[in-house]
Amino acid sequence: MSIDNILNRLDRVKETGNSKYLACCPAHDDRSPSLSIRETKDDQILLNCFAGCDPQSVLDALGLTFSDLYPEPLGHHFKPTKQRVNAREILASLDHESLVVAIIGADFINRKSLDDETWERLATAVNRIHSARAQAAPLQFKQWCGSRQPASKTAQRKEAA
Ligand SMILES: [Zn+2]
Repeated sequence: MSIDNILNRLDRVKETGNSKYLACCPAHDDRSPSLSIRETKDDQILLNCFAGCDPQSVLDALGLTFSDLYPEPLGHHFKPTKQRVNAREILASLDHESLVVAIIGADFINRKSLDDETWERLATAVNRIHSARAQAAPLQFKQWCGSRQPASKTAQRKEAA
């Protein structure tokens, strides 16, 4: 979805910088615009309410889902290629995806049931975090994967504790 499409749904939109906007947050009674809308270089849209609404409530109020914040289907951004690693893109993706995981994780911890769409979004986030990590730090990632596989009994006990 394009950022214009999202801006069209908001009130008192004000451009504050290059691909950065402020608008009234639709998730709370917002008198002075406190929702920041930002488009990253790879066309992801980031939403942040400075009054503290979580992104899910903002999206609900807009009638959108997390997938609407992405222009491309799953996995597109971090296909293994020989291109130079773009640290900024990786960081932006890690930042965004960890937020998604944190939000869905909080629901999970509160034993809310997750619908199919949320599960799918969680899977997407996990995939994106893995591929971002694989690009950002290939060696550590490999070691981490290796350490996860044949878990020794000591390691299992440690994890269980
Ligand atoms: Zn808000």
